[in-house]
Parts: sequence; C-alpha cells; structure tokens
Amino acid sequence: MAGTLSVHEFTVGSSTHVLVDAGELGGWDGARAAQNIRQFARADSALWGQLPFRRYVFLNLFRPGGGGLEHLNSTLLTSRFTADAPSGNLRWLNFVSHEYFHAFNVKRLRPVELGPFDYEKPPSTDALWIAEGLTSYYGELLVARAGLERPDDWLVSMSAHIATVQNAPGRLMQTLAQSSLDVWTTGTSGVGQDLAKTVSYYDKGPIVGFLLDAHIRRVTGGARSLDDVMRNAYAKYAGARGFTHDQFIAVAERVAGASLREFFRRAVFSTEELDYADALDWYGLRFAAPGDAKARWMLEVRPDATPTQQAHFRALVAATVPAL
Ligand SMILES: [Zn+2]
Repeated sequence: MAGTLSVHEFTVGSSTHVLVDAGELGGWDGARAAQNIRQFARADSALWGQLPFRRYVFLNLFRPGGGGLEHLNSTLLTSRFTADAPSGNLRWLNFVSHEYFHAFNVKRLRPVELGPFDYEKPPSTDALWIAEGLTSYYGELLVARAGLERPDDWLVSMSAHIATVQNAPGRLMQTLAQSSLDVWTTGTSGVGQDLAKTVSYYDKGPIVGFLLDAHIRRVTGGARSLDDVMRNAYAKYAGARGFTHDQFIAVAERVAGASLREFFRRAVFSTEELDYADALDWYGLRFAAPGDAKARWMLEVRPDATPTQQAHFRALVAATVPAL
C-alpha cells in the first residue's frame, strides 16, 4: 500500500499488530480504532489460546466499495466509513473482527477443497457456512466478548441475520450446503444473491453457529461449547491438509459427546425451518414481538429469565478480557 499512510502499532501477547490507514477523511480516529481492534484481538487470543503469527497488519483503505480480503498475516479492508460513522462504529468493528478471525478460520483451519488452488478451476465446497458463516458468528461474538458492545447490541446483530433468513422464501428453496456449492453460479461470494430463491451462508451460517453452540452447551450441561469445537478442529486440521465436512461434524460430535446427525441434517442439508426453541430456552431469550411483521425476529432477554438462563447467556457474550 502506497501513499500518505497513518500507522498505529500495538501488541497482543507477543504479536505485533499494525493498523495502516490510507486515504482517511476528516473525523477518522485511527488511534481509537487501533485500541478497539486491540481489544477484540485480545478476545481472539483468549478464545484460541494463542496467536499464530508474530506480526499482523490491517491494511485499511478508505475508498468507495466495501469488503475485506483475508491473508495469512494481514487483511485488506475497504472501508467506506468516514466522518459520518466514527471509528467505534460497531458495524465496522464487526467487519474487521470477521476478517481477523479468518487468520484462524479459513487461512489456517479450512475446508479441504480450499487449497492448494488450481487457478483454472473454481473450487467447490459445501462447507462455506463454516468458513464464512462461523467467521461471522465469531467475528460479532468476539466484539461483544471484547467488551466493545453490550449483549443487547450483539442480539441486534444476530436478530438481523435471523430476520434476513426468515423473511425471505429462499430459505425454503436452497439448503445451506447448496448455497455454498452454488457460489460460482448464483452470486458473488454469497453476497447479493436473490433471496427469493437462495439463502446466504453469511446470514444462515451465523444463525446455525448460534443454534449449534446452544445445542452443544445444552447437551453437555454447559460444560462444552462451539469454542471447544473450533479449538479441537484447529488442533487437528489447521495447516496443510484441511478438513472434510464429515470430519468437522465428527469433531463437533466428539465435543458434544452425542450424535449431531439430526441437527446437521436439518440445519445444513435440508430446507426445513430452523428450530430456535432450544437456543431461546437455554439462554433465556425470546422474540420480542412475534405479532409484529417488522420486529417479529428481534431477540431480547426474557424479563422472567431464570438466574441459570442469565448465567448461560453471560457465558456466551460477557467480556472475556479486561477493559484496556
Ligand atoms: Zn469472510
């Protein structure tokens, strides 16, 4: 990246991190953005128990467009957000946190089909809900676990995914696995597809992550979670070889100590409606206004949530790192 660069450097554990801003407009507070990034990077480090690089660079380019691209030890961010959306902007943090999580999930732990690449043939995998969907799930969750947003803010993000999926008929026409396989023929990276006919793994993926996490917590009495699945999968498959869809499911079943065949059949390999009941019950949540067409998928904490349910929800979203 060339030009007039503004560089903010910080460390997490023993890893150097660098935020490099280019083309920033007035109102951008790079120092504050770097501090926020540092905070969720610490939450990532707490989740994984390590950071797999000595130096990681956020190449943050302000220009029209949008989107990010993950690399092993850096990410290229195209940031539209300027003076009208300050650096604490949760949407921006969720986006950057997503790209950073890719350093673990996709760049090191990946579906077996995603590398090494044959640049003359598009790779085909049915596991982009893991690669992208779970990255969105954790990208948003780690912003909450960093203490950068309130649990209610996290519920707003998850509710937006749920509303997108539940309000479009595409969920009844394309499975999550098929949406991944069709990425080269029905859309661009799963973004901007016709939601009347397709489902996006960027929306249904994080929802299935939320439901799977709750399911594992429930069947293990809160002893294990999706965090354990990710750590175990990383320990077993990160590196040169990658995992097959079946291998990832097998890791999840070992962590759960139970068969998850029916869960995955329904959530990933069928167009049946998702079942939210168990997750809502485990965390003490409800849909706030089921009778209201616009707000019916908005999650909120039940006013009568028991102390046990409240503790379950805190275990999911409460800060895991002290404030800076
Ligand atoms: Zn991504």
